[in-house]
Amino acid sequence: MKRQAFSRTTASFFLNLLFPRRCAACDASLRFDNDDYLCRDCLKKIHWLSGPLCSVCGRPLFGKVVEPVTCSACLENPPHFDRARSVFFLERAGREFILKYKYGSNLHLCRPAARWMAERGGRFYSWDDYDGWLAVPLHPRKSRERGFNQSLLLARRFSRLVSLAAAGGGLSRSRFTRTQTRLTLARRRENVRGAFRVGRPKKVWRRRLLLIDDVYTSGSTVNECARTLKSAGAAAVEVLTLARVRL
Ligand SMILES: [Zn+2]
Ligand SMILES: [Zn+2]
Repeated sequence: MKRQAFSRTTASFFLNLLFPRRCAACDASLRFDNDDYLCRDCLKKIHWLSGPLCSVCGRPLFGKVVEPVTCSACLENPPHFDRARSVFFLERAGREFILKYKYGSNLHLCRPAARWMAERGGRFYSWDDYDGWLAVPLHPRKSRERGFNQSLLLARRFSRLVSLAAAGGGLSRSRFTRTQTRLTLARRRENVRGAFRVGRPKKVWRRRLLLIDDVYTSGSTVNECARTLKSAGAAAVEVLTLARVRL
């Protein structure tokens, strides 16, 4: 066992001579054994999410808060998912990290990302509560363009770390949706309405599901996935994303 660990370290040392590890946020060169792919300064700039949070959508709450508390947005417009939680804010080093992963095709960043989801996500959720996981699907066209589904890669690696099985419900995009970046919350909801389908409803019937995505922006995408899964009979849908936009 010791010998194996030794040879792994030696291998990554030599591999690093050929492909030096670089910080995903500031591009500084890193030690061969830096498994976060962030230098110490940038790691400090990651704003991890912690309480107090809205008990439903996970939005951070400020001031004196006695938990559990539900934010006004969730009270006015209760989401279809039961809970949503994220690991860090999509800002500063966290934003750079996501950009490098998602748009720069730096797939190795999936490793620390999945580890953080397991460790930090474990502060909010208990993995035994779920029957299986699902990832938010990309439309096949987008998947072809990008070459990978960033949420699916995250979910696969994360699920191995926490020993959670794939739900296998066959959640897919039934139509192409416009990019959401410039839409208001109401338009986002409308834009994704009916965008998903469950190919194998039997697999989600009465199941407690963990839905994985890379970024939580307005929540409208995961909300629509949850609506679709619940109308197929899912008992619960809870959401875990790597990053979250501060709204
Ligand atoms: Zn850095
Ligand atoms: Zn809320």
